[in-house]
Amino acid sequence: MKTREMICIGCPLGCNLTVKIDGENVEVSGNTCNNGVVYANNEIKNPTRIVTSTVKVLDGDIERVSCKTETAIPKGKIFDCMAEIRKKKVNAPVRIGDVLISDVAGTGINVIATKNIEKEG
Ligand code: SF4
Repeated sequence: MKTREMICIGCPLGCNLTVKIDGENVEVSGNTCNNGVVYANNEIKNPTRIVTSTVKVLDGDIERVSCKTETAIPKGKIFDCMAEIRKKKVNAPVRIGDVLISDVAGTGINVIATKNIEKEG
């Protein structure tokens, strides 16, 4: 059996969780509510993260547009996701919510703009 300590990020309380892992069996303590159990299970079995970054903009009044994945992607795909974001260039104008990269790193999840960029001049 392995034991891991983690902090639940489900709310500002930030409970210190102790997670005992025995094969598929995950036992959580230290949680104030059930969300801590859900969080710990996800962290052990399928850890995911929302990725935020910026994409290069051509002919825009600003050179880069902030972006994020629409939803969390598997942690193991973050490196591939960032590689695609680094290579990507988009033309101004850009609107909040525009899809900049679809199906990033084969996750089925889009990278979207989180800022408006106008065309230069
Ligand atoms: S276990 Fe519940 S109360 Fe504690 S940090 Fe997570 S969501 Fe908040």
